[in-house]
Amino acid sequence: MQKNGFPVCLGRNLDNNNMRQPSKYLVSTILLFSSYTGCRETDPVIAEQANFFKVIETNDLQLDTPREGEWRFDHDEHEQTFEQYKNSNPVRPSGKQRLIYIEPFGSFSAGEQKVLAGMAEYLSIFYQLPVRFLPPANENIIPITARRIRSDGGEQLLATYFIDTLLKINKPTDAAVVIAVTAKDLYPKPSWNFIFGLASYRERIAVCSIKRLYKDLNNTDDLNKCFSRLINISSHETGHMFGLHHCVTASCVMNGSNSLTETDLQPNRLCARCLKKLYWNCRFNNRTRLKALQDFFYNHRLARGYITAKKDYDKTSTSR
Ligand SMILES: [Zn+2]
Ligand SMILES: [Zn+2]
Repeated sequence: MQKNGFPVCLGRNLDNNNMRQPSKYLVSTILLFSSYTGCRETDPVIAEQANFFKVIETNDLQLDTPREGEWRFDHDEHEQTFEQYKNSNPVRPSGKQRLIYIEPFGSFSAGEQKVLAGMAEYLSIFYQLPVRFLPPANENIIPITARRIRSDGGEQLLATYFIDTLLKINKPTDAAVVIAVTAKDLYPKPSWNFIFGLASYRERIAVCSIKRLYKDLNNTDDLNKCFSRLINISSHETGHMFGLHHCVTASCVMNGSNSLTETDLQPNRLCARCLKKLYWNCRFNNRTRLKALQDFFYNHRLARGYITAKKDYDKTSTSR
């Protein structure tokens, strides 16, 4: 399912009153990955950190039973086991391809630029990889066929155009992944109302929008809310580019989401199972990463993220 040239995992679909099923590509992915074989770890890379992950797991929070309108209520997803993750041959940062690039599309206000800078800082800590901005791209290069006007007059951009056409053309040779950000609203196909983001496993390209994440960035609370949402969505979509599927085993940033309300309830944290996958992929220093996350949340006054990162860091202090 990674060879069909289409995004295989849709980011986030909203507008609960007009829900649509995911594309056939996502459905086929679920079927192929549905044979659960247990979670006993035999991989030597993980075995070396077994105590660390055991402690992280004790901080995992259980998922509630999904309610109507929530992602898992509408999408019958199954766990991607660690073995399945490894066997999927995910993108891995290598010597020559280890940068996360952010490509801003269109113009951004001063407040929006501030949250974009924070997003870059967060992704570099979350993935322990260097992050660079590409020069801002002019939105005018998006053709009329990849835009539409909603009934409320708002313009939307076709997310798949970014992935299948725009970003493929000039992807830097040292890019592990590329994530575009736009201030305009996004839609993935005509039958969907809108999405926060969309990622392609195969192309290592994603796009996300900040359009629906805030009302007034001059309001400090709103700015913080927008910031927290953007780091959630961008780290989620980047996780998809590194091969992570939606998480269905614990409260986790890789949980699917149908709405901002649902996103706001999700932690900016990977559960133990997802962290194992990312660690196996990126081979960062787990404790260094946790400390940097804790400091990031503290410096940016993001209380909930700080509490969870501190809990993970403090609890793992004797696990090495
Ligand atoms: Zn997703
Ligand atoms: Zn998870």
